[in-house]
Amino acid sequence: MTQDLFRQDATLPECRATVTALSEAGVVLDRTVFYPLGGGQAGDSGWLVLADGSELLIADTRKVKDEQGQPTADIVHVPAPGQEALLAQLQRGQGVTARLDWARRHRLMRFHTSTHLLCHLVAQPVNGCSITADAARLDFHMTEPLDKDVLNAGLARLVAAALPVTVGAVSDAELDANPALVKSMSVQPPRGSGQVRTIHIAALPGSDLAVDLQPCGGTHVANTAEIGAVVVTKIEKKSAQSRRVVLGFAA
Ligand SMILES: [Zn+2]
Repeated sequence: MTQDLFRQDATLPECRATVTALSEAGVVLDRTVFYPLGGGQAGDSGWLVLADGSELLIADTRKVKDEQGQPTADIVHVPAPGQEALLAQLQRGQGVTARLDWARRHRLMRFHTSTHLLCHLVAQPVNGCSITADAARLDFHMTEPLDKDVLNAGLARLVAAALPVTVGAVSDAELDANPALVKSMSVQPPRGSGQVRTIHIAALPGSDLAVDLQPCGGTHVANTAEIGAVVVTKIEKKSAQSRRVVLGFAA
């Protein structure tokens, strides 16, 4: 099992770790700051720094799958092509420093929190989500058109309000009692441990209602002000029943 340090503290740029397994897929560590692809959010990239200072380039991060194709609690760091010489130096039990490409991860965090703001602005179920370092998209199950200018004004207002973003948890039972908490039709909250991780975005001044509260395993900024200049670049009619909102960084 890989201890997922990013779930409690998404701001950690690196950690010390021990190699627990080496496979064709890559390097498994006992603990990591690298987020594995999931919930629509891309896997992290960065470096594993060896004792002599050499840097093994990591292109992607994934959950290890079992023989049935189900995700396990192990996280594998996928090396970039051409890293064979450094990989050959690695052994089980060896200590490394896992260091994120923090600039890329911070873009992913800004986009991911922005998608939660969109969930506040568009009160419709989500049926698709993709968050990369260059763009994010959210598909809403709806038939009415969406107005780009209205969404951009709404995003700018929520970013300017500098609302705290916090990690919490609800029990499986609380989630069953409040099915409206789950806004995504495409990503199911991770059940089974009795607790489901939630992301809470504080209420606007003068309101008692949280801007957003939903189960989510992704990495987020700590305050909406940290999102900065993220804008809606495109709205597409994906199908009769679906509207796609694409986010990008303002030039
Ligand atoms: Zn999320």
